[in-house]
Amino acid sequence: MSQVLYDFTRQDASGASCTAHAWAKVPALLTPPEREAAKARARALLKQHDAVLVAHYYVDGDLQDLALETGGCVSDSLEMARFGREHPARTLVVAGVRFMGETAKILSPEKRVLMPDLDATCSLDLGCPADDFAAFCDAHPDRKVVVYANTSAAVKARADWMVTSSCALAIARHLHEQGQKILWAPDRHLGRYIQEETGADMLLWNGECIVHDEFKGLELELMRREHPEAMVLVHPESPRRVVELADVVGSTSQLIKAVVEGTASTYIVATDNGILHRMRQLAPGKTLLEAPTAGTSATCKSCAHCPWMAMNALQGVASCLETGDGEVFVPEPVRGQALGCIERMLDFVRANPAALATPQRGFVPNIGSA
Ligand code: SF4
Repeated sequence: MSQVLYDFTRQDASGASCTAHAWAKVPALLTPPEREAAKARARALLKQHDAVLVAHYYVDGDLQDLALETGGCVSDSLEMARFGREHPARTLVVAGVRFMGETAKILSPEKRVLMPDLDATCSLDLGCPADDFAAFCDAHPDRKVVVYANTSAAVKARADWMVTSSCALAIARHLHEQGQKILWAPDRHLGRYIQEETGADMLLWNGECIVHDEFKGLELELMRREHPEAMVLVHPESPRRVVELADVVGSTSQLIKAVVEGTASTYIVATDNGILHRMRQLAPGKTLLEAPTAGTSATCKSCAHCPWMAMNALQGVASCLETGDGEVFVPEPVRGQALGCIERMLDFVRANPAALATPQRGFVPNIGSA
């Protein structure tokens, strides 16, 4: 794991969430025998505690493998939420960042929800404090409040709708067709992308993901010239110039689908590089290149990997099950208030499955990148 010098200094109430703190807490790499031992220990503890592991595509590959080997899931945040609620296990171990654990707890209050490290958060969540957000909402009472999943339970408690990147476009389009004006938070890049795609009237909060915000349009253009055969896959949390260069814009699941079903031999991937583990497993013959985050005109702030996602490791799964540390609590009435916007999204997705079926732009299965 390479250390980065940049420090995103915004902190939550615990004061323990800046990126320097996160990088310092990334567990040490294990040797192959240590990895096998840690996996065996975590596997036994999951069984002993009637627990299931729910992992995001951006976490360590060993954790992703363990989740799949033990009947858990590896997915985007939408599927993590659905899977956790529907699985019969009494304990959910959520490998990801804090808002994912909170969402699991909001949906499944009767279950114990554990996380390998509760300090694993997200720059979008940190950048949207609940009090400031409430004031923003109060100032615009005529707008439907739509928040991205990457927010605290307290922010969700104020929202009409929660969305993930899988369904954000479809839900914004739905609201626009109903003549609704939208107040959007917190990711400004995703908000702008949705606004431009749908034509909806959207007022945007000024947040960003520190990983996607660092992808560089100029450098991506140069890379594309070097690999003219490549298809460019971009997550819509990226800046406009990067999105403009994309053959496919979509959520993590949609980008994986694009690699698996595409006929191009090479793919340039502009999202957290944790996703490459699953892409390589599902499309082993294909060449995957990380989109550039740095260049002569830039500083490398994120190196395409989220420090908070990197805090998740095999050791943490075992230790949260052994000690009970890392349990997620979402007190009432916030939990009940936040539930409404999540259920509205899940109901919409259930009623409109086609909204999730394909990437959001440019991809035609089996046609390739031409
Ligand atoms: S990758 Fe970005 S959006 Fe995802 S958890 Fe990290 S900072 Fe948040």
